[in-house]
Amino acid sequence: MSGISTKKIGVLDLQGAVREHIKMINELSAQGIPIKNPNELSGVQALIIPGGESTAIGKLMVKYNFVEPVKEMASKGFPIYGTCAGLILLAKRIVGNSQPLLELMDIEVKRNAFGRQKESFETELDIYALGEEKYPGVFIRAPWIESVGENVEVLAVYNKKTVMAREKNFLVTAFHPELTNDFRIHKYFIDMIK
Ligand code: GLN
Repeated sequence: MSGISTKKIGVLDLQGAVREHIKMINELSAQGIPIKNPNELSGVQALIIPGGESTAIGKLMVKYNFVEPVKEMASKGFPIYGTCAGLILLAKRIVGNSQPLLELMDIEVKRNAFGRQKESFETELDIYALGEEKYPGVFIRAPWIESVGENVEVLAVYNKKTVMAREKNFLVTAFHPELTNDFRIHKYFIDMIK
């Protein structure tokens, strides 16, 4: 059996799109584990911070003492993937907000950046790190990445704005792969686990 080598990926389960990530991870023969308490982080090799409402998730992270344990996990090199609100929570800088939360990734983020007319939309993205085939980008009141630091690799651009990026063990998308049937981003993330 492959039980011992099954990769365990935590999904922060405070608010937002948790179940969809877990389902996708499990279908890729890894194990998705909802994380409700910081002590559960010791049982996983990577963490997803899901989409939802970044202010709500941020407040709950403070309330349930997640901030330091997640930063510690990050400093040990464990992969962390933020989708949408999760991207906002990982950023070092947020336009118009002087109090970012985790400050782990060298990006500046603009919340709800696509404006009212484009609150939710789907568009085909070129993501060459995943191959030639277009990727279905599902955006829901999405942020974009306004600027990136020199060590950040831009992985996808939409309307000249960065919407997917990687820096060392950190991966972010402004869109929601867990709401599609395309497994390539979750597979890419699972492959970041050493
Ligand atoms: N608009 C949300 C925020 O600013 C993010 C939306 C999402 O995660 N789908 O937190």
